Amino acid sequence: MPGIQTPAAPVDAYQLSTVEVMAGLGVSADRGLSSTEAAGRLVRFGPNTLAPERGAGRVRRFLAQLDNPLIYVLLVAGAVTAAFGGLVDAGVIAGVVVVNAVIGYVQESRARKALDALSRMVPAEAAVVRDGETRRVPAAELVPGDVVSLAAGDQVPADVRLVDVRAFEVDESVLTGESLPVVKGTDRLPGATGLADRTNTAHAGTVVSRGSALAVVVATGAATQLGAIERMVAGTEAVATPLTRKLAGFARQLSAVIVVVAAVVFVVGLSRGMPVAEAFTAVVALAVGAIPEGLPAAVSIVLAIGVVRMSRRRAVVRHLPAVETLGGTTVICTDKTGTLTENRMTVTAVVSAAGGEDECLVAGVLCNGATLHHEDGEWVADGDPTETALFAAARAAGMDPAALHQEFPRADVLPFESARRLMATVHRRHDGTRVGYLKGAVEEVLARCDHLDAEAVLRHQRALAADGLRVLAFATFDPTTAPVETQIDSPHATFLGLQAMHDPPRPQAVRAVAACRAAGVRVKMITGDHADTARAIAAAVGIVDSAAEARVLTGVDLTNLDGDLAEAAGADVFARVSPEQKLALVKALQDRGHVVAMTGDGVNDAPALRRADIGVAMGAGGTDAARGAADMVLLDDDFATIEAAVEEGRGVFDNLRRFIAWTVPTNIGEGLVIVAAVLLGATLPIVPVQILWVNMTTAVFLGLTMAFEPKGPGIMSRPPRPPDRPLLTRTLLWRICMVGALLVVAAFVAFRWEIAAGGSMAEARATAVNVFVCVQIAYLFSCRSLDHPLLSARPGRNPALWLGIGLTVGLQLLLTYLPAMNTLFHTAPVGPGAWLLALGAGATAFVLVELDKVLRHGRPGS
Ligand code: ATP
Repeated sequence: MPGIQTPAAPVDAYQLSTVEVMAGLGVSADRGLSSTEAAGRLVRFGPNTLAPERGAGRVRRFLAQLDNPLIYVLLVAGAVTAAFGGLVDAGVIAGVVVVNAVIGYVQESRARKALDALSRMVPAEAAVVRDGETRRVPAAELVPGDVVSLAAGDQVPADVRLVDVRAFEVDESVLTGESLPVVKGTDRLPGATGLADRTNTAHAGTVVSRGSALAVVVATGAATQLGAIERMVAGTEAVATPLTRKLAGFARQLSAVIVVVAAVVFVVGLSRGMPVAEAFTAVVALAVGAIPEGLPAAVSIVLAIGVVRMSRRRAVVRHLPAVETLGGTTVICTDKTGTLTENRMTVTAVVSAAGGEDECLVAGVLCNGATLHHEDGEWVADGDPTETALFAAARAAGMDPAALHQEFPRADVLPFESARRLMATVHRRHDGTRVGYLKGAVEEVLARCDHLDAEAVLRHQRALAADGLRVLAFATFDPTTAPVETQIDSPHATFLGLQAMHDPPRPQAVRAVAACRAAGVRVKMITGDHADTARAIAAAVGIVDSAAEARVLTGVDLTNLDGDLAEAAGADVFARVSPEQKLALVKALQDRGHVVAMTGDGVNDAPALRRADIGVAMGAGGTDAARGAADMVLLDDDFATIEAAVEEGRGVFDNLRRFIAWTVPTNIGEGLVIVAAVLLGATLPIVPVQILWVNMTTAVFLGLTMAFEPKGPGIMSRPPRPPDRPLLTRTLLWRICMVGALLVVAAFVAFRWEIAAGGSMAEARATAVNVFVCVQIAYLFSCRSLDHPLLSARPGRNPALWLGIGLTVGLQLLLTYLPAMNTLFHTAPVGPGAWLLALGAGATAFVLVELDKVLRHGRPGS
């Protein structure tokens, strides 16, 4: 069957029977490949990953930097300037274009790399049969011929041919765009069946939405259908967020205004007798100076830096916009197990009828979703802590779980699902008879049992749950030979007992919940567990002040409300909640104006995760489906990590505001200098090439340093920013006008002063440029704290700031004293008096802006 063995042509697997496919791939379903064979195939076929980006993508991305109306204007301007004989100016303009594109490219690549690296921090795994045992291996190590088992919530790790299915449905929307899950089977299909109709295969990247399956890998890595698609779309995805888009829109509007102003200036200039070439370059400099061309790119960088900072705190952000949204979070809805607690389960109590304890433990071992495999001569349990704790409990009572599994081989299973809160298995006995076991939430198991004192059991449960224990019930039933899922609703089971597990609250969670509350962020627990357990844990971690007073709503309560959740959304603890109710709660909170972060781990949580402003999934526990729908993944599943991410998000938003507050007025000031000169008929205090120079150097070396500002000390002691608060608040707009005006005045005053003192035109312009840059530096300091005077705000260390200022000063010295630069930029060396003037101007600007803050103090952000 050569067609299947080469990853280049796996397409015909759907036309073959499962027997043919397995034979062709040289593998058997129960033993899988041997480790040696798998290693050999890994060398032959390569890892199961998509090919890295190739050179062509890079060239295209570089050229994309030039695809910008502003650049067209500049290029035309350069050509016209050159045609009028202004070769030096034309050269400078060309330099600006190239430097701009290089900076843009480098910045974008860095942002992209940071994001790519992050996506690799959450490695995908697959359950694969090798050497006759099921184990989890990194998905990248899968090879054609590997036998994999797939369960609800898993992302399909490679292209596979299905061998055995149980109520197996797959969401193939990534490949086909079809949003309804596809029901899968194993029967062979006729040739030329389209991709969307190949019901006996599953493809890499799609997600199992229901059931389970055994399948054999037929294609890996680039040979998969996903690989084929990825090759087609490689390199086209842009790094954009609502904010960058909003800002790009703002920049576009501003540009349009500037172009109109420039046209007016051009006409006025000509009518005043300015030579055409000179008027033209003036207008170009005006446009280049005033248009905040770097704004969207810089915002992406600030966000990307935020992403990196968050990843250091073990929160992996999957979508850039999440960084800005996180800072505005007003409510965090978190689940309990594993996030607020450690998910280290220990059975601390077994409650059963007299003498029934053993069978309750046996049920825990047999009706169990964890796997046992051999490692260094010992049996190791692998799976959900709830399940492995049941093995440990049996072992502590002297039982041997592995031997039990061999003695009672499993004939059928209904895996645990959160929505059903139940698991069932059927086992064969030596004598050929069968026995069935149930395990699950107490209510669910009791509802299926005959002859018992349900009240007494519930009393036990409540007592255990009040201590924060997680309680599972066990029962046994006489199975028929029908599939177990058809028997599960009326099995007439016999109750065996309860096992209660202790799961310690995470100590960090207690601190993080308190920090959130101090920061005005409400924390709500939404759990699948019992109300009393939820209440006890909520009190233990500080979500509610006391267990007795906590308002706990259950899924049943929510159903009884009949969709009117508005008021219910005010409660802090929700128990036995279904995924649909989670979604409804997110909506209800959002309707009340909240920005909602919501955690989820199951396959059914995906809609709620998508709907939440910040969907949070777990990196260690949880399903691929949840991770796929989430905006952020917690590497350590820890609630404290959400709180850390919120803190970082606030820091990022502050830095965005700082950056914008600095950039916009300096750009406007650069443009205004020329507008003022032309309209007033005055000599230009700063000529176009100098504006271009200032624009290029300061935007990068001064403006971008704001991305590295440390978080302010009180960042988690103030309430969240109101969701509807605009980025450009009135305070900020006023500041922008004020500083823009200050810059213009400073440039004119400096220029006149120097001329009056007998300086040459070149000296006067060098002075004006230095004054201009000095005011920008002074204002940069003010921007470190937007709402409060700098002295009282005491910002932390920002080495990038000092480095940037050092570089800027160095460049200004070159501009002033290097003869070649003097020729290029029409400057001349100036004396100490000119520098004193620059320092004085800077100091004045600083004092004025700080004074403005003092006057407005107490009304930040108004
Ligand atoms: P959270 O939503 O906070 O993570 P949880 O882990 O209790 O809480 P689920 O995993 O949905 O939520 O579990 C819901 C209920 O189902 C549990 O309270 C328990 O009674 C039962 N249950 C949990 N795991 C299993 C399992 N492996 N087998 C059978 N029943 C289980």
